[in-house]
Amino acid sequence: LRRNPGEAEFHQAVREIFDSLGPVLDKNPQYVEAAVLSRICEPERQIIFRVPWVDDEGRVRINRGFRVEYSSVLGPYKGGLRFHPSVYLGTIRFLGFEQIFKNALTGMPIGGAKGGSDFDPHDASEGEVMRFCQSFMTELYRHLGEHTDVPAGDIGVGSREIGFLFGQYKRITNRHESGVLTGKGLTWGGSLVRTEATGYGTIFFVQRMLATNGKSLDGLRVTVSGSGNVAIYAIEKAQDLGATVVACSDSSGYVVDEKGIDVALLKQIKEVERGRISEYADRRDSATFHSDGSIWEVPVDVAVPCATQNELNGQAAATLIRNGVVAVAEGANMPCTPEAVHSFQHAGVIVAPGKASNAGGVATSALEMQQNAARDSWDFDATEARLQQIMADIHDRCIETAEEYGHPGDYVMGANIAGFTKVADAVIAMGVV
Ligand code: NDP
Repeated sequence: LRRNPGEAEFHQAVREIFDSLGPVLDKNPQYVEAAVLSRICEPERQIIFRVPWVDDEGRVRINRGFRVEYSSVLGPYKGGLRFHPSVYLGTIRFLGFEQIFKNALTGMPIGGAKGGSDFDPHDASEGEVMRFCQSFMTELYRHLGEHTDVPAGDIGVGSREIGFLFGQYKRITNRHESGVLTGKGLTWGGSLVRTEATGYGTIFFVQRMLATNGKSLDGLRVTVSGSGNVAIYAIEKAQDLGATVVACSDSSGYVVDEKGIDVALLKQIKEVERGRISEYADRRDSATFHSDGSIWEVPVDVAVPCATQNELNGQAAATLIRNGVVAVAEGANMPCTPEAVHSFQHAGVIVAPGKASNAGGVATSALEMQQNAARDSWDFDATEARLQQIMADIHDRCIETAEEYGHPGDYVMGANIAGFTKVADAVIAMGVV
């Protein structure tokens, strides 16, 4: 805390892991002797840089860029880039810290990192986004490489931004090094299913979690917050599996559609036109737009927060519980506050923590890296089947670990302990480095 003052989200993420580790440290005194906890909390490297660019009016603009290379014990640094005006070092450190354990849980050989900038792509023209991405990569490229550090997308960074970033990397280095970024376009090294992977993976996790508890998604009412990459594909897969998604949102408000979200219309507005969620209600008779209140007031069986950190607080949790929610799965990173998680668990609601339930995105990025290394591309069905198997394995690892450490059915404990022990053992094996 003393070393990182004012980084509330980072402190929250560390506390959440530490709260789970009591039984692990009792069983494994070597982790304490080797000071594994303090070593894991300190990133291997943090890069902060100036990003100068010129806007459409010819004015010079300055943003701040970040890359926190947290841990490379399991593989090259891996984690997305976030472009959002709220980004500061604490955001990237919290996301990078979470990423270490998430990546460990996937079972793939990838370390943990995160990066981004306080740049806001919402307000920028396509040309401005391109010039910003080129400037960002002009500094960042020297730290990247397929065996070193492999970024991907996150909030505000989708396939358009990855294209501009990859183009500049290729130009500067004179190398078409496909494995240096993931989330690429399908004709230049991207993987089928990567776009869908985080949302689909979250719902595969929910499906298995409900089945373990004798339930099924078929016929359930679901809310998915957000309407970005993760949310859209979570909605699509939940409805494919028989659920009705009755609400989704963006930062301006939420829509309720009792007939179930029309995914084709949502994609048209959000992916093609880059519009606002209110336009969905303007174009669909069964939908209403709400700029006040909370999306969590809509009564549902399953809540899937897929927008941003701390979007679902204790009060929202109390409302969902009162309305009969049975399961919550984090599609976003740390969307539920600690109070919300505690209330859900106290009320017997099953909670899937993001580092387990949203790990399908980074796992499929690792599959993209495998295809790049082999100069290969796999078909959709086979890649989706791999994703489904990976999510089942993560789910089962969480459940088995929670059971082994005396907390049966507690996915939060299971995910934290399984991710931590894998990283801690590797840290010790490599000595004091
Ligand atoms: P996108 O930028 O595609 O979408 C983000 C969505 O969340 C938008 O609808 C956005 O609304 C909304 N949102 C963002 N910030 C806020 C805010 N402060 N308040 C209210 N709404 C907000 O991002 P992704 O879908 O990629 O990411 C969503 C979450 O999932 C993040 O937590 C991310 O870290 C996590 N995640 C993403 C992965 C991926 O593969 N993309 C992998 C694993 C986790 P608006 O457009 O109005 O800002």
